[in-house]
Amino acid sequence: MECPRGGKRLLGWARRITIVLKHLNYLTEKKEGEKIKVNYQHWVLEEDAHHILWVGLDVADSAVNMLSFAVLKELTEIVESLKGNTSYRGVVLISNKPSGFIAGADVREIAAVEDANAAVRHMQQAQTVFSEIEALPIPSVAAIQGFCLGGGMELALACHYRIATDDRQTMLGLPEVKLGIHPGFGGSVRAVRLLGPIRGLSFVLEGRSVDAITAKRMDLVDEVAPLRELRRAAIYYIQHKPKVRKPSLISKLLEISFIRPLLGSLIKKKLAAKVKIEQYPAPYAVVDNWINVGSLAEKAFATEAESVGRLLTTTTCRNLLYVFSLQEKLKGVGKEVNFKVQHIHVVGAGVMGGDIAAWCAVQGIKVTLQDPSTKALGSAVARTYDLAKKHLKQAHLVQATLDRLCPDPEGAGVAQADLILEAAVENLALKHDIFKKIEANARVDAVFATNTSSLSLMEIASVLSQPERLVGIHFFNPVSRMPLVEVVRGKYTDKMIAVYAAAFVKQIKKLPLLVEDAPRFLVNQIIGGYFTEAFKALMAGDSMSVIDAAGRRLGMPMGPLELCDQVGLDVCLAVSSHLMGKEAESAQTLLRSKVEKGELGRKTQKGFYAYAKGEMVRPKETIDPQKTIALERQLFLGLFNRALLCLDEAIVNNLEWVDAGSIFGFGFAPYQGGLLHYAKTMNQTELAKALAAYRNVNVQAIETSSAWQLLW
Ligand code: NAD
Repeated sequence: MECPRGGKRLLGWARRITIVLKHLNYLTEKKEGEKIKVNYQHWVLEEDAHHILWVGLDVADSAVNMLSFAVLKELTEIVESLKGNTSYRGVVLISNKPSGFIAGADVREIAAVEDANAAVRHMQQAQTVFSEIEALPIPSVAAIQGFCLGGGMELALACHYRIATDDRQTMLGLPEVKLGIHPGFGGSVRAVRLLGPIRGLSFVLEGRSVDAITAKRMDLVDEVAPLRELRRAAIYYIQHKPKVRKPSLISKLLEISFIRPLLGSLIKKKLAAKVKIEQYPAPYAVVDNWINVGSLAEKAFATEAESVGRLLTTTTCRNLLYVFSLQEKLKGVGKEVNFKVQHIHVVGAGVMGGDIAAWCAVQGIKVTLQDPSTKALGSAVARTYDLAKKHLKQAHLVQATLDRLCPDPEGAGVAQADLILEAAVENLALKHDIFKKIEANARVDAVFATNTSSLSLMEIASVLSQPERLVGIHFFNPVSRMPLVEVVRGKYTDKMIAVYAAAFVKQIKKLPLLVEDAPRFLVNQIIGGYFTEAFKALMAGDSMSVIDAAGRRLGMPMGPLELCDQVGLDVCLAVSSHLMGKEAESAQTLLRSKVEKGELGRKTQKGFYAYAKGEMVRPKETIDPQKTIALERQLFLGLFNRALLCLDEAIVNNLEWVDAGSIFGFGFAPYQGGLLHYAKTMNQTELAKALAAYRNVNVQAIETSSAWQLLW
């Protein structure tokens, strides 16, 4: 039966009164020293002997804590019951899950809100409860361990104090701009209030997460403590009530209404060098909101909520939410198995093997690294040191990483490893030799993997008596920066072995993409089309600046020739035939002549472009916009053609994996939602005609292809 509106309101009040009474009852009925415990569906309230209320979050039926609508609703009731209640000395918000504090709002729920007004209402409800926490007459502490992101960070910012544990799992951040919105539960206001406009805005705009030590350095948290001391530190803060951080005088000066537009326009200028407003409007909205109302006035919260409402309905936001869902799907591959690699043996310590070994050691896995070249082994150890220093910072963690990496020229580690990954030179006979030895010495349950990028898995596996144990684990270069890893299923690969490989990829914090064994797999096959078109245009006399401008216009992070300079022209020469196939010949002639002159790109300060002090010197020339648009179309067709061929060849069987491969494999514009997501925004008939002309076939051949049918 429908409850009338007034009746609903009455029920709501009755519920609130019951909760307040529940608390009061506990307080009046409980005997001295007795602890209270109130269980909600997602929260647990416990009073300790110091009269501190511990508000623990343990979201039901979920491995991680998320601030879903239901969780926020219960929090509202809890805070309601605490208002004006001075019987507690303080409140500590803490996670009762080992997986972390709060990983953010529930993105699926946010994505389902399609109406801007509904979004604003939701933001305002959360803002109200967070402001009530801030206004409590008793001190509040956010005791943070593990992820403290998005809505979780916003909740922590509303507390009087924040204490974070010093372990590697603890990360704090406001990553909302990556979803095309910005914090909406008051976070973009409080971050600026706390950190000042310069640091606060950049924290929100960059959307990056920081560890506890960095957070302390930037005044985001008040204290860093080891996990075993977290509760004690929270009690200390409640009992001693140190001065709550307030905006400094300089921060207040920067908030003056005529200063804000000046500082804001400087920030926007810096922003424009990184992202365009038409592509990523959210960071610009953060700055504009601040210019308009600052962070100190109460009105800032309403402005923030309305702004999120507007952003949530933009195409960019919808596409970025789609990209987020792709990422979640990739993370879901291999979830069903509990396969954990304790020890990996890597064969080959060159560019790839050395970097894979370093990455695995940093991720906490024991690594034995085999290579006949002591120079290669030495270089891999040095790179591991650099990587560990960059990622782990603390000396004892760096040392522990180095202790985990064991140079092993004889390959003794093969016999103990859970996973053996071959990354030796790209030569079939050599790989056969290596795998025969591996199979003879490995544990019976060890998984075999190869990092080959151009050889057939089936051919490599042909020397094994159990070829089903071999899977491709194809990393991209540079290993530490590329988020995607292709997990390649060969003709003989056992289904479960591929699942184990995916689980391993996730274990080392990469995204696994399952692909079938075919020349170049998925990502290199598609990106090859981009380079093919770029070199064709260069040979036809188009200027480098126009070609690169066309690539950037398409939404690639760099133009194709800039990218070649970045990677190194020697490396490009080595992989050219692999990426471009038979069309590589003329590109190779050009690349070879540059390599022979020592013009290798950025690393030698000269390649396609010249460099001064590490910065590219862009030739001064006027770029013809019409030419750029025409070339952009060609570059797109190069990519699109190859993407459809991959679908026709069933290297992957759905569009989403192509989009994921294009975004996480070669950085195709996330704001477009991936290559095929973007293609689907075009006119279907026009596109079919363009592709038919590109392939020199009739339109019917395109429209009847299986890939085309899948696309539309
Ligand atoms: P590399 O030439 O830098 O390193 C190969 C290493 O293999 C050398 O250190 C060499 O000493 C070692 N080696 C030679 N014989 C060996 C043996 N019998 N046992 C153990 N090690 C031996 O090559 P790379 O670029 O690291 O490529 C390695 C593999 O990774 C290849 O299969 C390649 O296709 C693949 N790959 C390369 C890239 C890339 O960008 N370079 C990207 C993805 C995949």
